[in-house]
Amino acid sequence: MTETPIRTGGCACGQLTFEARGEPKRVGLCHCMTCRKISGSVFNAFAVFPADRVTLSGESGTWEATPGQPRDHFCPRCGSQVFFWDGGDEIEIKLGAFDEPDLFKPTYETWIKRRESWLCTSDLTSYLENRGERTS
Ligand SMILES: [Zn+2]
Ligand SMILES: [Zn+2]
Repeated sequence: MTETPIRTGGCACGQLTFEARGEPKRVGLCHCMTCRKISGSVFNAFAVFPADRVTLSGESGTWEATPGQPRDHFCPRCGSQVFFWDGGDEIEIKLGAFDEPDLFKPTYETWIKRRESWLCTSDLTSYLENRGERTS
């Protein structure tokens, strides 16, 4: 039996942390305007885990792109974006929030119509908008 990997991470100041057990269901990038704005970067990279495999600790603030639907969770002290969770059975953890770099490799990207022209992501499965509508 192989051991279940446990990956840890959290915000920049260490107040909001998480522990993710097992392998992610999928790893992707999103180039949509909301992901750009909220991260302050030109795309969002994340690993999706079943919610019951992730343990969160610390206080998180949320922001609702659509009223009544909390999604992006950040540390109220340092402002780091840590994960996206709408209360459903999946949590998207930002790759940059993990304690170690290079743990996961994205296999797909969404909202490529908003992708920066200089980004080289040719080996990823691309979706013009959300996942499901394959374009390349
Ligand atoms: Zn923090
Ligand atoms: Zn997005």
